[in-house]
Amino acid sequence: MERLKGRLTPLRRSLWVVGVYLLAGWFWITFSDYLVEQWFPDPETLSRVQTYKGILFVLVTALVLFLALMRQFSRDRTLLSLHYHQREEIQQLNQFRESVIERANVWINVLDPSGRVVLWNRAAEEISGYQRDEVLGSDEVWQWLYPDEEERAGIRARAQEILRDEGEVVGYETCITTKAGRKRRVSWNSRSLRGQDGEIVGSIAIGQDVTDIREAEITIRHHERQLSTLMDNLPGMAYRCLYDEYWTMLFVSSGCRDLTGYEPDELVNNKRVSYAELIADGSNDEIVRAVESAIGNAEPFSIEYTIIRKDGQRIWVWERGRAVEDDDGLVLEGIILDISERKALEQELSELATRDPLTGLFNRREMTRLLDEEIARAKRYDRALSLLWIDFDHFKRINDEYGHAAGDSVLKATSKLLADSVRSVDVIGRIGGEEFVVLLPEMDRVEAGETAERLLRLIRETPQPLGDGRTVPLTISIGVSVFPENGTDSGALCAAADRAMYQAKSGGRNQVVLAPLAEQAHNS
Ligand code: GH3
Ligand code: MG
Ligand code: MG
Repeated sequence: MERLKGRLTPLRRSLWVVGVYLLAGWFWITFSDYLVEQWFPDPETLSRVQTYKGILFVLVTALVLFLALMRQFSRDRTLLSLHYHQREEIQQLNQFRESVIERANVWINVLDPSGRVVLWNRAAEEISGYQRDEVLGSDEVWQWLYPDEEERAGIRARAQEILRDEGEVVGYETCITTKAGRKRRVSWNSRSLRGQDGEIVGSIAIGQDVTDIREAEITIRHHERQLSTLMDNLPGMAYRCLYDEYWTMLFVSSGCRDLTGYEPDELVNNKRVSYAELIADGSNDEIVRAVESAIGNAEPFSIEYTIIRKDGQRIWVWERGRAVEDDDGLVLEGIILDISERKALEQELSELATRDPLTGLFNRREMTRLLDEEIARAKRYDRALSLLWIDFDHFKRINDEYGHAAGDSVLKATSKLLADSVRSVDVIGRIGGEEFVVLLPEMDRVEAGETAERLLRLIRETPQPLGDGRTVPLTISIGVSVFPENGTDSGALCAAADRAMYQAKSGGRNQVVLAPLAEQAHNS
């Protein structure tokens, strides 16, 4: 209706102009003679005016017509140029829209209501392998993309729903078969398209090739499953923690329960307790040093220390980890294992290797090692060191009289008595059947002699238990040698003390003999 009105306007306007012209003409023809006769009564002037009044009329109406046409033409020109610009803009907009659709890296296609392809962009060509001239205007592509009839029917039904405008589809995934026969997963967003009068004229579908994403997701899920199986079956606790003063745990594996007694949740983010709080006193500084130096050298660290479990039990752990830089900043990743059993075994083995099983004192080998160590220290700090060589007097008789077990009992009791009667820095060991050595660091000849006398007296005055409630008196003989006077190595010092002890025996036993000073020159 509007358009019809618009088309009529020029005709009306032309009629109007002609009407006005006819009216003015009629008015002029009818009244001009009368008017000029009124204005010009002089017959001579009147005749001249009448000659020119026709020309005047033509000139005036020509001028009016000229002005009116000028105005109209200039209006038309403005309108024309406006239309031209608008047309250009619309064209540009269309081009832009087409290029956006064409260059989009998502598959865009438009279908008409019967499912025939109307638009097929470049991404659609690339993903599907079908060129637009193969698919435009037909619905065959459905068979090609979805060769399985049942699957195709399901997907077409979904497309029909959109054409009936029953909502839009977001993230609907299908598996297409490309022209090359490969399977690709495509995620679709689709909705209906409406014409100017609101009727549905087709549907637009935008598809994203999510094959790689889905494959990556499957791989990640697979790895996650593997990792969590691995974590759950690890002998200790795998962790990921911040490099901060609390060793704030970001993740701990389920092994946390067995290792610390805490649930993983209690430890993560220091919810109940921080890992730093579990570390036994003193160990933390050592750990900090080890981690710092490992970070400095860009290498992994491994360290052993003790932690206190939730039940208060102390356990030895071995930790191996390394620092990694990621979104959380510098974090540590690694594993912590309970090595208490190994530590106990090590302890046991080392005891076995260094201790005498009957008395619990150091054995001959350990005593030799400790003596070397003490001599080195005495040399380094220029300090004295004395050595007592003790042998029980007539010990064979005790064995003979009361039996070997009674002899063992006496050996044990005497060992304890001797060990309890020396300073904590002194070292005592059993180096033979009933022969003992005592190392007295920083003790000179005089002090060593006094200590030997004290021990001698103590043993003599303390009856030793036979293990059956009875006791037996016992005396000992002691030889004393002193570093550096009687020797500067373990061999010389032992030999000097042993000789002095034999002198004590030959001197009647139950006595102390100091190695003579003259031996220093002889031995060194
Ligand atoms: P002496 O005063 O000269 O030292 O006399 P002794 O009887 O102590 O003689 P000696 O030191 O030569 O002999 C050591 C004896 O100690 C020999 C052995 O019967 C006894 N003996 C050595 N080792 C053990 C042991 O492990 N258990 C027991 N019960 N006796 C031991
Ligand atoms: Mg002996
Ligand atoms: Mg003896």
